[in-house]
Amino acid sequence: MPPSTLGFVDQGTAEGADFAPDIDLGRRHRVVVIGSGFGGLFATQALKRAEVEVTLIDRTTHHLFQPLLYQVATGILSEGEISPSIREILRRQRNARVQLGEVTGIDLVGRTVTSTVLGETAVTPYDSLIVAAGSSQSYFGNDQLARFAPGMKSIDDALELRGRIFMAFEMAELVEDEAERNRLMTFVVVGAGPTGVEMAGQISELSRRTLRQDFRRIDPRRAGVILLDAAPSVLGSFGDRLGAKAQARLDEIGVEVQLGAKVVGMDGEGIEVEDEDGRRRRIESVCKVWAAGVSASGLGALMAEQCDVGLDRAGRVKVQPDLTLPGHPEVFVVGDMIALAGMPGVAQVAIQGGRHAARQIIARLAGRPYGEPFEYHDKGSMATISRFSAVASVGRVRVSGLIAWLIWLGVHLFYLIGFKHRVTTLMHWAVSFIGRGRSERTITQQQIFAREAIEALGKGFSPTLSPGEREDPLT
Ligand SMILES: Cc1cc2nc3c(=O)[nH]c(=O)nc-3n(C[C@H](O)[C@H](O)[C@H](O)COP(=O)(O)OP(=O)(O)OC[C@H]3O[C@@H](n4cnc5c(N)ncnc54)[C@H](O)[C@@H]3O)c2cc1C
Repeated sequence: MPPSTLGFVDQGTAEGADFAPDIDLGRRHRVVVIGSGFGGLFATQALKRAEVEVTLIDRTTHHLFQPLLYQVATGILSEGEISPSIREILRRQRNARVQLGEVTGIDLVGRTVTSTVLGETAVTPYDSLIVAAGSSQSYFGNDQLARFAPGMKSIDDALELRGRIFMAFEMAELVEDEAERNRLMTFVVVGAGPTGVEMAGQISELSRRTLRQDFRRIDPRRAGVILLDAAPSVLGSFGDRLGAKAQARLDEIGVEVQLGAKVVGMDGEGIEVEDEDGRRRRIESVCKVWAAGVSASGLGALMAEQCDVGLDRAGRVKVQPDLTLPGHPEVFVVGDMIALAGMPGVAQVAIQGGRHAARQIIARLAGRPYGEPFEYHDKGSMATISRFSAVASVGRVRVSGLIAWLIWLGVHLFYLIGFKHRVTTLMHWAVSFIGRGRSERTITQQQIFAREAIEALGKGFSPTLSPGEREDPLT
């Protein structure tokens, strides 16, 4: 089989003699990685010793540790602790360069990636491509809900939510009308998966522990925290036993769990739900959080238009077992963007997928067999509910309470990038979990006077869903 123009043979196993390394082209093999999340960053680092040039393109300047976003939103951690600079992380990796830009185009035939930032467009050629652009919040086709109930996928989202949560207490302290005060002091989290459970637990602890002495006219401990889900259980993926334990603990810390409750409408001042018996009701609440669904990056659809690959309902790419696109052994898709054998959208799938893609590229360049199927090793999952309380499922072992919380603490510290981030995170955790404080309660003037915040507080323009949109339950 003859080598392709860029040095790869077109079959799953490279025969040494057929392989023409790019060195013959007078340059190193170019790997472009899209996304500096778990998949992209770990893929880049796994290529550290390879004879390649890596260009890592991301629309942000940081690597985001998404599992701790809820702690930024509730004032425990600063945004810097969970989002170290990519340039700093890769400063010693001489074969890697970082390029800021939103990827808007991938040309699978011409082998280029187009990215843009502030009107500057770059076209970056590649020999191998690793696409790890993750996912975004899904409102199931009702994107206008984002203004009433922000999701949690980025630093901007977490800071927006922090502003809304603390502002709700500030406004409650000011208003005279009791109904309005109650509306401001009722927090609704939609989605009882790990993110929703963690968020609801932290808002509850914030109101009952941290803020309890800070106000004069309101008693923050009386704030209502409601966790809603259309599903019949909390933390469904953890199994019945851990789900029940989590629900009992949520109850203890004052979170009201409402299951079998579908969101059918929303506006600046409340949320409408339909219960299992078909009855509809309204919860008056200014501050709402969306933790209900995700859809994969639109880059998957962009690639699907150019090759024979399908997408699932969440827009994830139905990749080949080795994570490549059919007919494109040089293009890998990893992490939240893939639909493969029911693999979940978790950090470990992205980390292991990124490393797998890097290994395949190295094997091809070395003329070794490549195209190995990706094997995911499930290292378990966990979710915190409150301080000193978590649930963890590792293999056949199911633990809850303090032991699970200590496992959670160790794992999160281990995967946080950078020694200094680990040290300051530990200090902030001590402040919040041993003490009652929260070190990061700042909200900016810009946030206070932002149009969206004013709308969310029910002041002025606050559109509701149109009647047609209300027909479809959202969760
Ligand atoms: C709130 C929250 C809590 C979570 N908790 C856990 C948990 O406890 N445990 C767990 O295992 N998993 C958890 N997850 C899931 C986990 O974070 C994801 O599965 C993981 O981040 C996926 O990695 P990825 O590399 O595919 O995508 P991401 O980590 O999302 O990275 C994608 C990167 O691509 C960039 N990007 C996207 N589009 C473009 C574009 N067009 N151009 C340029 N750059 C682009 C983004 O800026 C981002 O840096 C959580 C997720 C969230 C949101």
